[in-house]
Amino acid sequence: MRKNKVFLILISLLLFLFSNCSYPRLASSSPKSTNVDFSDLEQKYGVNFVFSNVRDTWDLVNYKVLTKNEKKTAKVIMTRILEIYPENFLKKINLQNIVLVKELKFLDDFRAAVPDNYMSSIFFSMDSSYTDNYKYHADIHELNHYIEYYLWNDYYYKWPEYDKLYDGTNLGGKTAYDNKKTDYYSYTPDLTGFLNKYSKLAPEEDRSEIIAFYFCPIGNEHNNLISKCKNDKIMKDKTVLMLSLYESLGFKDLLKSFYKELESK
Ligand SMILES: [Zn+2]
Repeated sequence: MRKNKVFLILISLLLFLFSNCSYPRLASSSPKSTNVDFSDLEQKYGVNFVFSNVRDTWDLVNYKVLTKNEKKTAKVIMTRILEIYPENFLKKINLQNIVLVKELKFLDDFRAAVPDNYMSSIFFSMDSSYTDNYKYHADIHELNHYIEYYLWNDYYYKWPEYDKLYDGTNLGGKTAYDNKKTDYYSYTPDLTGFLNKYSKLAPEEDRSEIIAFYFCPIGNEHNNLISKCKNDKIMKDKTVLMLSLYESLGFKDLLKSFYKELESK
């Protein structure tokens, strides 16, 4: 009888100790966790999503880490953007790390994204102050720079066929960072051969803007590009060149559907 009592006390003591030490563990990890599961996207596209402790080639990129809610919003955006690209495309262009952060800067300039082909990484800024449209647009734009580097080993490639159609200022994309009062990014219907003032700054920016307008899944950018191409031959020829380039990378039926849209009212 006495032995049983001692045994019971021991069991109760053990249960008490275990139940007690499990509480603090749950309390400290669960509510503060900033984890959002990206493993489904990682598996589907063969890419890593990274949120901190990433180095860049130049040691000039800096950023802040996303909160859990910002990661959730980022996942919605990334899911929709990645649907644009063919299966295995990110592996093909050797993109291994998608770095999702906020307040992204290159040196002292805030940037929506920074492609770093040398490290097989691209940084995307998911600031809550940016509109969704801006995030979709900027990410697709920067992925085009990444793709061009993969193709030509050059972020500023002079593509002879394209340069025949480009008659911009060649001042370079950085000009826009130094002139913050000018609206470079809005669609400008009366600008012949260009979508906006930003595209005039350099052929590689022009090409990335065409791709961003064409593929942006929200807003009116796609329709604006199509309506400009209906009346602007240079715009149309440049778009055909870009869509042909993307078809050569495995995108299906882009030209067919582009011409179909041009014919529609
Ligand atoms: Zn650009």
